[in-house]
Amino acid sequence: MTKQPHELALMAESGRLLACVFGMLDRLPLAGMTTLEVDTLVERFIVDELQARPASKGQYDFGFVLNASINHVVCHGVPSAADVLMDGDIVNFDITLEKNGYIADSSKTYLVGNVDLAARRLVQTTYEAMWKGIRAVRPGATLGDVGHAIERHAKRNGCSIVREYCGHGIGREMHEEPQVLHFGSKGTGLRLREGMVFTIEPMLNRGGRSVRTEADGWTVVTRDGSLSAQFEHTVAVTATGVEVLTLRPEERGMLQAA
Ligand code: MG
Repeated sequence: MTKQPHELALMAESGRLLACVFGMLDRLPLAGMTTLEVDTLVERFIVDELQARPASKGQYDFGFVLNASINHVVCHGVPSAADVLMDGDIVNFDITLEKNGYIADSSKTYLVGNVDLAARRLVQTTYEAMWKGIRAVRPGATLGDVGHAIERHAKRNGCSIVREYCGHGIGREMHEEPQVLHFGSKGTGLRLREGMVFTIEPMLNRGGRSVRTEADGWTVVTRDGSLSAQFEHTVAVTATGVEVLTLRPEERGMLQAA
């Protein structure tokens, strides 16, 4: 579970490359594109530009490099030529990338065109909740501290937290120990130590927290049809705090924000 310094350096490189993928996505118009087109562009970028491997393709027999989860889809949305991104949609792209044997995992929810205020608030609250969790990471803190910080922010803003999916340790494997819950009580759970690497990836719903899996066996949606948003970073516990391995350039300074 704990990584050595040379492993952390390799994971930071994987994370840096994955941040570049989101930089590429940020420049896409999205409205009018299908999620399959986005998947194809991301695969080409990872393979041709970054000389890396899309780690999700082939994992669990999944045929794509990303999950595209639109509006009431909570997670694990499957890229499709039938899913055209429309003005007013929100869409999460969840992407993994492997370089030199080490995997990074990150996701971001995008606003497509003009998105109404309620949806923008959900997306903003989810982003803030992820950062509240990240800022709780330091040696000696517990995973319960992380979950508590996320849960408190979600509740204060009238959002529910999906409980069926959690963050996870990551390294040579996409999913390693420990499980990182996005709710919890201060002082409980695993105590964090320098060198631990895991994801923090809260999924927040506008309505109730219940979810169900659709008939395709992949796509997870809110039971009440309400909107859902998610953000994810891969983080490492340092000697004094936390390093966000998948940090994007525009996020420098987020660790210090209140
Ligand atoms: Mg993950």
